[in-house]
Amino acid sequence: MGCILNQTHFLNARLADGTVADLTVEGGRFSAVAPAANTTPPTDGAVDLAGKLVLPAFVEGHIHLDTSFYGDAWRPHIPCTDGFDVRERVAFQMRNLEQAAPMAERAKNQLELCIGHGSLAMRSHVMVDAAVGLKHVETILAVREKYRDLIDIQLVAFPQSGILSSPGTAELLDEALKLGCDLIGGLDPASFDRDVKAHLDVVFGLAEKRGAGIDIHLHDRGSLGLFEIEEIVARTTASGMPGKVAVSHAYALGDISAEALARAGERIAAAGVAIMTNAPGDHAFPPVAALRKAGVTVFAGSDNIRDSWWPYGDGDMLNRANMIGYRSGFYEDWELEAAYDVVSHAGAKALGLEGYGIAVGAKADFVALRAEHIPEAVVAVPKDRKVYRAGREVARGGKVLA
Ligand SMILES: [Zn+2]
Repeated sequence: MGCILNQTHFLNARLADGTVADLTVEGGRFSAVAPAANTTPPTDGAVDLAGKLVLPAFVEGHIHLDTSFYGDAWRPHIPCTDGFDVRERVAFQMRNLEQAAPMAERAKNQLELCIGHGSLAMRSHVMVDAAVGLKHVETILAVREKYRDLIDIQLVAFPQSGILSSPGTAELLDEALKLGCDLIGGLDPASFDRDVKAHLDVVFGLAEKRGAGIDIHLHDRGSLGLFEIEEIVARTTASGMPGKVAVSHAYALGDISAEALARAGERIAAAGVAIMTNAPGDHAFPPVAALRKAGVTVFAGSDNIRDSWWPYGDGDMLNRANMIGYRSGFYEDWELEAAYDVVSHAGAKALGLEGYGIAVGAKADFVALRAEHIPEAVVAVPKDRKVYRAGREVARGGKVLA
């Protein structure tokens, strides 16, 4: 008798395999995924998705909530004096941030941009160093709390000014993990701190002490960068941390020969280290297809959006899949599907997300958009999307609903 509590029905959802299904959501999760019954008119209270493609919400695997100027005044990009230099960029960033709108406001702008485009899980790095202390972490932790009903956010305590180069940072990183950061970050152990062993001792030491994951920014190129990746891989295995360590950017993997890459890929896959790329413009980046073939989990993020590093970024992970495919020379359907996988299922794996996908028992966090299938979605990047969190519509046409 009566209706079953809190059930929502979504009719005529086109799934990734091309079939059309009716979805039932109960308690924020899918309780049924069944072939469409073609009920016309739709039953009371049911949402007719009218054949729209339904995809699990995208995974924003690498972003900086504390340092973007999105929604703030435009900050013209300042070029480095002699080619890309991390130290110089950090100095520009410090100067820019002094004149920025309040951090919580900027973080909120960026979060709503991402949610509006359909990302409902995110990993954000947050700066920790001797100058800013834990200020950024405290602010972003509070923002995370405010948005917890809309998006799942993992925070990385990120030593933006190095660990050894900024005395006191190791203690601050420890404190940041105690306060609620989920992972510990790192930054170019060789070129920035000039001591790979000491840098990684702190990173892996704190990860073990606090049971935290690891996600290291690694811009170092060529054989130097490859050496650092090998060190991270060896320590991941030694610490028994497969599936809990990621290397972000890993540009070096885009510099080495195909043979060296195949060898490195095998080791990275065996250690369970994930590789994050944003497919940066005019820059070598990890070869996505070759790494996936070797069994490596490759995931993606927007990284910098309108910040002191570059002016690009739109917070749209489907557009990121497009860029990854474009830059990788992906044309065939299975390749376009691989580009999509990087911003969805592979991202969920890298972040260790539970209950991801369109399946019975999975969280009902999904995006509905007009495309026949995934390859078309990746090339067309339809902007007219509806975003659902736990089966409730939370964003439409790029805007978070009040
Ligand atoms: Zn970054």
